[in-house]
Amino acid sequence: GKVAVGAAVVCSAAVCAAAALVVRHRMRCSGRWVRAMAILREFEENCGTHIGTVIRKSPRQEENGLFYALDLGGTNFRVIRVLLGGRDGGVVKQEFEEVSIPPHLMTGSSDALFDYIATALANFVATEGEGLHPSPGKQRELGFTFSFPVRQTSISSGNLIKWTKGFSIDDTVGEDVVGELTKAMERVGLDMRVSALVNDTIGTLAGGRYYNPDVIAAVILGTGTNAAYVERAQAIPKWHGLLPKSGEMVINMEWGNFRSSHLPLTEYDQDLDVESLNPGEQIFEKIISGMYLGEIVRRVLLKMAEEAAFFGDTVPPKLKIPFILRTPHMSAMHHDESSDLRVVGSKLKDILEISHTSLKMRKAIVELCDIVATRGARLSAAGIVGIIKKLGRDAVKDGEKQKSVIAMDGGLYEHYSKFSSCMESTLKELLGEEVSDNIVIKLSNDGSGIGAALLAASHSQYL
Ligand code: ADP
Ligand code: MG
Repeated sequence: GKVAVGAAVVCSAAVCAAAALVVRHRMRCSGRWVRAMAILREFEENCGTHIGTVIRKSPRQEENGLFYALDLGGTNFRVIRVLLGGRDGGVVKQEFEEVSIPPHLMTGSSDALFDYIATALANFVATEGEGLHPSPGKQRELGFTFSFPVRQTSISSGNLIKWTKGFSIDDTVGEDVVGELTKAMERVGLDMRVSALVNDTIGTLAGGRYYNPDVIAAVILGTGTNAAYVERAQAIPKWHGLLPKSGEMVINMEWGNFRSSHLPLTEYDQDLDVESLNPGEQIFEKIISGMYLGEIVRRVLLKMAEEAAFFGDTVPPKLKIPFILRTPHMSAMHHDESSDLRVVGSKLKDILEISHTSLKMRKAIVELCDIVATRGARLSAAGIVGIIKKLGRDAVKDGEKQKSVIAMDGGLYEHYSKFSSCMESTLKELLGEEVSDNIVIKLSNDGSGIGAALLAASHSQYL
């Protein structure tokens, strides 16, 4: 009897302590993000690492033939083949394959990483089917989506500024990533020319506009996060080159690197940052994106275990392993609709080897997932509102119904529905019903890769 009572007391005390932690955390997370809105304007001035990507020609419905794309964004990369029909034919056919990157290659040598990528690409090229070969005498052409900060030097070259999202390969930094890929393709005997280098935001934006001229911006919510939008060239103080004929330019915001004292950072975020491969960098990304949300939850749970004996007298050893709890696990727990929260129970058991959790504990964990996801989703919405405000599309003028479409790509947005619905309701809340009726978030699955193939086509050597 005594033992059971004792255990119950410990347990409810732990839940109370945990709840207190959670509430404290929530207090820190709410309120302040609203102020963060005010400084989102800083994005435009501080975050454009490659303002004015040299896209001379947007893809149009006229390009035709076979084009490849390679999309390197985070943990996976995709190889893509598209057949363009020419003159309003659009994309006639698209095929892709997804390949995961072995973790040791993310922190190894540049040659090893690019050899691996080039080999996967060569294997994919070898599967070209009937009617999917390049015209005789023509070299295959590729759009390379490389979603890390790059100082772009031409449409088909750019030097890596730094790695993010868990990559850390010193000998690539400062190098032309197209050169690195081209050398690797030569080493594996693949004859292909890189005609366009873009990142996922630019690819998604170009791909989105190909289908729909109302697309004004692209946002990525995947392993990492970033955004790009179309700006009137004369509104870009950093740009000193010739103004493009269209009067428009694409700004890659690199918003993942946004930071501000107004961001609602907690001790968990600070510790995560300090222990990361890129301390002090990508602060916005570290509180929003798929690579980190599960890890934040793990850190709060660890604190609850250590300081409030949330899981009993001993701290579950697995809980101490960084990145063991991934965002898809967190999302599965968060979406658990069963009355006894059995998904939460089984995730705790399978991933963290924690058995025997009470319903109360499971509920606290779901609440924690909700807090962490809500903060990320609301901040993402604030970022989008920042773009809409910058473009002056945050007011309905004379009852005009001008649509603003945001092309969205990324596994976090696509698969974490509580995240995406919270993001969308926050947009409504911030912009008001009338304005938000004209804002459309459009999931552009694989948009970043298709967009790169389209840009390769519009910058083909054979045009
Ligand atoms: P990348 O950003 O590397 O191009 P994706 O757009 O495919 O990759 O997004 C992958 C990321 O999406 C994963 O790192 C993960 O964080 C997140 N993700 C994937 N599936 C889910 C899921 N079911 N729930 C929540 N997040 C998910
Ligand atoms: Mg991607």
